[in-house]
Amino acid sequence: MCQAKISCQARGEVVEFAIMENSIVAVGSIALDTIKTPHAEVRDIPGGSAVYFGWAASYFSKVGIVGTAGNDFPGEYLELLKSRSINLDGLKVGGKTFRWTGRYGENPDERETLSVCQDVFENYEPEFPESYRSSSCIFLANIDPDLHLKVLSQIKNPGLVTGDTMDLWIATKKDSLLETLKKIDMMFLNESEARQLTNENNLIKAARVILSFGPKTVIIKKGENGVFVLSENILFSMPAYPCELVCDPTGAGDVFAGAALGFLASESQAMPVRAGRVNEASLRKAVAYGSVVASFCVEDFGLRKLEKVTEDDIMGRVEKFRRLTQF
Ligand code: AMP
Repeated sequence: MCQAKISCQARGEVVEFAIMENSIVAVGSIALDTIKTPHAEVRDIPGGSAVYFGWAASYFSKVGIVGTAGNDFPGEYLELLKSRSINLDGLKVGGKTFRWTGRYGENPDERETLSVCQDVFENYEPEFPESYRSSSCIFLANIDPDLHLKVLSQIKNPGLVTGDTMDLWIATKKDSLLETLKKIDMMFLNESEARQLTNENNLIKAARVILSFGPKTVIIKKGENGVFVLSENILFSMPAYPCELVCDPTGAGDVFAGAALGFLASESQAMPVRAGRVNEASLRKAVAYGSVVASFCVEDFGLRKLEKVTEDDIMGRVEKFRRLTQF
């Protein structure tokens, strides 16, 4: 199953990235994004939750995507994904690509969705291909939770089930989301989503309520204020890697999850079957790797910065992050 290993030296410690056959599958959106910031605007760049997640996970682990793109999704963008060995066996092509337009204010944590075109999902029936059956983790990235449930119903033994969501589904599909949460081992949410889902303002209380919905581990993302992690036996927080340049935060949450789960998959070689068995030391390292890869993502629009980032760049920044957080 283990196909290749890349070793990186970090302060005398050898971290091995074990690349495994389809070890993670992301179910989510494949998009053409238009992003407006106070300083610039880009149109129709590649985006979507599965794309950002897959890109980040691919530094550490094999990854496949389940999703749909339109006939108008440029072939060069598909080639870009293939250049990182992202498996597209689960991609259906037809109709018009999902489009999202968002605008940021001077504060990058404040985002407004200006428009979405979701036609491509109307008749979309997701299919989990045979070639992904050996995967040890599934990430239910931001997409309609009814589609998550359709995919889960096709898998007998999904391994570690992880997920993410957004304000739209909490507002419009809460019952389906709660149904999905019963099947999720590890849930990623940002702080406003955690509050919206639970009606709890205090984030630790909110995370406890989310644990009561089903997940064994909850990871709450707080943008530039970092992350905190709660499970029955684990509580820790970690700052974000400090970035002087924040150009575009789109996709940073998916990139964080992709790198963290990719790292966990590679560290344990065979993904722990249930989140309860992920040990705290691995989880802490995974969160650090997630924060570092996300810090690259925000430095340019879309995937532009990550297109240039190598494993060595990641290890260099992980080492800086380690020094920054030591006391
Ligand atoms: P994030 O910044 O982590 O929330 O992710 C942003 C990505 O989510 C963008 O690339 C969008 O294309 C995608 N996105 C936005 N709205 C939706 C939606 N309703 N369903 C699926 N993906 C979405």
